[in-house]
Amino acid sequence: MSLERIYEIKKQWIPVYALLLAVALVVTIYLVLVYMYTQNEDFLMYTMLSLLFSLYMGFNLVKLIRIKIPKYSYVKVLKCSQCDHTITVPMKKGDYLFKEEGTCPKCSSKMYIAALYKEEVRRS
Ligand SMILES: [Zn+2]
Repeated sequence: MSLERIYEIKKQWIPVYALLLAVALVVTIYLVLVYMYTQNEDFLMYTMLSLLFSLYMGFNLVKLIRIKIPKYSYVKVLKCSQCDHTITVPMKKGDYLFKEEGTCPKCSSKMYIAALYKEEVRRS
């Protein structure tokens, strides 16, 4: 499984964590109100537990939101067989190394694919 796929699966958990956090916060507020009303020490402990759970969910949520999914684009380097002029263009289906493709814009000789690789796309 690729790293990008793992990140995408993780991102799908954001609504679940957000929902759990919301529920935990509501429960915490409810417990605080109950404690204030009853002055029962037990509820203070439940409030602490609930608060800890909220913090844990909030922490996880922030961690998930901060994940950046890297995007890659596949490129090929076309190289002229005569003058070594190179052009980098997006890869197409059926491309392979040393495949002849196009003509050199400088000397009109045949060009071939000198390299195939993926590069990370920077997103703003
Ligand atoms: Zn050339």
